[in-house]
Amino acid sequence: MSSLWLENTNLPKFPSLDKTVKTDVLIIGGGIAGILTGYMLKKAGVGCVIAESDRICHGTTGNTTAKITVLHGFIYDKMIKRFGAEYARLYLKANMEALSEYRRMSESIDCDFESSDAYVYSLDDKEKVQREVKALKTLGFPAKFDNAEKLPFKVAGAVKAEGQAQFNPLKFLSHVCRDLEIYESTRVMELTPDGAVCNGGRIKADKIIVATHFPFINKHGSYFLKMYQHRSYVIALENAPDLDGMYVDGCKTGMSFRNYRDLLFVGGAGQRTGKKCGGWEELSEFIHKNYPDAREVARWATQDCMTLDSIPYIGQYSKRTPNFYVATGFNKWGMTSSMVAAKLLTDIIIGKKNDYVSVFSPSRSIMRPQLASNAAHAIINLLTPTAPRCPHVGCALKYNKQEHSWDCPCHGSRFDEDGKLLDNPATEDKKMK
Ligand SMILES: Cc1cc2nc3c(=O)[nH]c(=O)nc-3n(C[C@H](O)[C@H](O)[C@H](O)COP(=O)(O)OP(=O)(O)OC[C@H]3O[C@@H](n4cnc5c(N)ncnc54)[C@H](O)[C@@H]3O)c2cc1C
Repeated sequence: MSSLWLENTNLPKFPSLDKTVKTDVLIIGGGIAGILTGYMLKKAGVGCVIAESDRICHGTTGNTTAKITVLHGFIYDKMIKRFGAEYARLYLKANMEALSEYRRMSESIDCDFESSDAYVYSLDDKEKVQREVKALKTLGFPAKFDNAEKLPFKVAGAVKAEGQAQFNPLKFLSHVCRDLEIYESTRVMELTPDGAVCNGGRIKADKIIVATHFPFINKHGSYFLKMYQHRSYVIALENAPDLDGMYVDGCKTGMSFRNYRDLLFVGGAGQRTGKKCGGWEELSEFIHKNYPDAREVARWATQDCMTLDSIPYIGQYSKRTPNFYVATGFNKWGMTSSMVAAKLLTDIIIGKKNDYVSVFSPSRSIMRPQLASNAAHAIINLLTPTAPRCPHVGCALKYNKQEHSWDCPCHGSRFDEDGKLLDNPATEDKKMK
């Protein structure tokens, strides 16, 4: 089941690689992170090639809900307490600049970009909302407390940020990628000292950026410990109300809402990939109860990488790997985060000072409670004695009856019923018999 964006956008097609090419920077992955980084590098005069194993934007990017906002759940109060106000201010500033850059670029790109207010609500914790509003105000951001009365249920309160935005991400990226050197159906299989070996040829490069969503190199960086994937479901409705804003529950398993033209997207009912969740059944029930006159026009699902501290990993892949970089762990906020990544990685590569290097550094401390949870999931699922197993590190796969797929609860790789790889970090199909 394909998203509304993928159904309705004519993405440009690119050739597959069948020779050896040479470039300054190889970007692995043609989602929003890879494409924006390619765009920024090219603008800075750096040669780059993007290798995409499938078609561009057919991963998480093609299935996003594309709200462009600095409100990333209830994060700022926590961030100030954990890392201090200066750190939180830098995180906020990086994302505000990303939003401004979208606004600037969209002036000349037909991508249904529109300003919209963003809300993060809580069903039951008014104090949490008040604390977040206060934290944002401390950082100089004019957040407001709101009752989010356009939602079809009562909330304890919501943080409101005015002047955020939403758009059609694939119309935007179709334009942005036009002049980039991209190879589709070109999977990077192996890295070599001078670049990478792909299924159809080689790419020689001085520097490499991994923008593959979940990084596939396990030898460095410990991303298999630092991240898990969270899957969510979306239904697009016609004959549903205009909510005049973008809404998300601050709780990870809650709902999200945005309008697109005369449609309403309702998302949520998700869980850690591989775990039981309500999925489309729960969403359909919610819609039936709250929008009884609405009609479904599309449904889709996708997943994103969640980090230990809700902050993306952008920068040098690991301490021991110079000239090797990563952009991942967007915690379902990949629109602003990938713009942050594109600018940050470009600055690192051209040697320009960037204030956000340490905020997003992939080598920051991993001593967070989520680490124990990730390790426990891995141990339990490695010891679970059922077949089939995930080829990534050998965890027991779980059947997802709503999507007829086999999903890995450790790192989120997914396979169809015939074993075809649907989502990484696994890099190969699974033999089912
Ligand atoms: C339900 C849902 C709703 C969301 N809504 C929002 C939202 O409203 N606002 C927001 O800011 N964010 C949102 N997000 C998050 C956002 O969509 C993602 O963070 C973002 O799209 C990730 O982009 P990416 O480029 O990192 O990954 P992808 O789009 O998955 O791109 C990675 C690409 O790498 C390619 N690849 C993988 N391995 C290889 C290889 N070995 N060789 C070559 N290519 C390879 C893949 O084929 C893929 O095309 C949402 C996420 C979910 C799950």
